[in-house]
Amino acid sequence: MCDTTELRCQCLDPQCGVEAFHETDVGADSTAACFSNVSLFDCRFCGSRWLYCSIAEEIFSRPNRWYRGPISLKQSRSVTPEYAAEILAILPWYFYGGPDFDTNGLKGSGPASTHLEIDETEVAL
Ligand SMILES: [Zn+2]
Repeated sequence: MCDTTELRCQCLDPQCGVEAFHETDVGADSTAACFSNVSLFDCRFCGSRWLYCSIAEEIFSRPNRWYRGPISLKQSRSVTPEYAAEILAILPWYFYGGPDFDTNGLKGSGPASTHLEIDETEVAL
């Protein structure tokens, strides 16, 4: 883990591309309305660990929205696709973006909606 107060790694850029991370797939949680995929991201440069969740209308389409939040190694061991939204909600902050939010990346916190039918205004900035 890096000391994020001293080192401004590129993973701390909300619009940092996914290619900066090594991805470990956790699993998917699909409903009739959408398909959400949950992964653990390890930064290739500083080693920090992130919970990444992308939500799309269909399995292989581009995500309508995504969330990327910093989590501890301990937290990451208990991540499941069903539990991802709850973990995001208790993090001090996370990054989010996608067409649903009309942004390539912003910082936010609070409830995260990992299902498309939930109103996106639930995301508190
Ligand atoms: Zn990093």
